[in-house]
Amino acid sequence: MQKSNSIDIEFDKEHVWHPYTSTVTPLPCYPVTSAQGVYLTLEDGTKLIDGMSSWWSTIHGYNHPVLTEAAKAQLDKMSHVMFGGITHQPAVELCRKLVNITPAPLEKVFLADSGSVAVEVALKMALQYWHAKNEPRSKFLTVSHGYHGDTFAAMSVTDPANSMHRIYKGFLPEHIFAKSPECGFWDEWNENDINDFAEKLKQHHLDIAAVIIEPIVQGAGGMRLYHPMYLKRIRQLCDQYNILLIADEIAVGFGRTGKLFACEHADISPDIMCLGKALTGGYMTLSATITTKHVADTVCSGEAQCFMHGPTFMGNPLACAVANASLDILAENKWQQQVASIEQQLAQELPPIAELEKVKSVRWLGAIGVVELHQAVDMETIQAAFVEQGVWIRPFGKLVYIMPPFIITPSELSHLTYAIKVILS
Ligand SMILES: *Cc1c(COP(=O)(O)O)cnc(C)c1O
Repeated sequence: MQKSNSIDIEFDKEHVWHPYTSTVTPLPCYPVTSAQGVYLTLEDGTKLIDGMSSWWSTIHGYNHPVLTEAAKAQLDKMSHVMFGGITHQPAVELCRKLVNITPAPLEKVFLADSGSVAVEVALKMALQYWHAKNEPRSKFLTVSHGYHGDTFAAMSVTDPANSMHRIYKGFLPEHIFAKSPECGFWDEWNENDINDFAEKLKQHHLDIAAVIIEPIVQGAGGMRLYHPMYLKRIRQLCDQYNILLIADEIAVGFGRTGKLFACEHADISPDIMCLGKALTGGYMTLSATITTKHVADTVCSGEAQCFMHGPTFMGNPLACAVANASLDILAENKWQQQVASIEQQLAQELPPIAELEKVKSVRWLGAIGVVELHQAVDMETIQAAFVEQGVWIRPFGKLVYIMPPFIITPSELSHLTYAIKVILS
């Protein structure tokens, strides 16, 4: 008999599907019972330093008193109310904040449930925009090694090999993929890097509704940190051919790269921006798609007379209240110093790891550190080894990477890089 207060790992293994896992050969999952600051506590009392921020989201750390209080206070008022024909303070306040902190022409906010849905919303906005202009267009241009989510439209602009487009052939729309940027963030810019993208845009521009790209950091598609000039050129080319630009800031938005939004590295603003992940400080799911008055009003002047989207839990007050608290913490502007210190420390502690035999290269930007190996890791073995070292780091393929909460201390961060070094040695 399972004790009622302990986590039934066997049931989990038999019946619970985890992200990207097999029911035939399920890998063990670690039971977490609580989390505080940068620490996850396992059921047996083991404490792990979290190097993942629960996939980019818990930037202020777990169980932050301000965020927890915001959630509790909102819970006592109302946890949810429909958003059709009704509005509420948490949503209005959140949209005001987002309009204020995002690049200037972005001013119309659509709140959605998750990152993937924010991307769906952005793509639908672009399609409705061209439909309203009586120039229907059905293609999107993006680059290889991208990741935009797991729903169908988001997957259709995600790297075709990584997301196994061939399995869904005949159902998944086929879009246009240019070569991903080769020039790294810290490299000298090579103008040839943009050639393939420019060529594809020139060739197909009359069919293309929008370009969609992750600014500066390609996340789940390969942890590639690319040169700001690549993004600058994309903005220029989109202007030249009159194509909308969608910036997917879901992973990197809210300070992760050292700028509040990664677009700021290239000093550009997109026509549509997607936000998610860290929006609620990692407390719950919420996303936002923000666009310009021009795009929004054009969308709404078309046949449908409105934007055709409206999920049940749109603008969930509980999520909005926590997001407001998270943005208030960011507004104290401590994140800049925190992320800058993390970047400095990664610049010190990652290069020695590059000397290891198994390691192909290392790279870093802001609060992101990446170690690329020559060969893919054995997930089960390496995961257990990291836990043994007292850290939570979840590699994929050839990539061992960290993006810790901004509040991590220098000694905790050293613990993470030390664990990587020891295990890869
Ligand atoms: C995680 C991610 C998404 C999808 O967000 P979900 O909340 O997982 O649906 C989309 N784009 C990027 C860049 C992401 O990192």
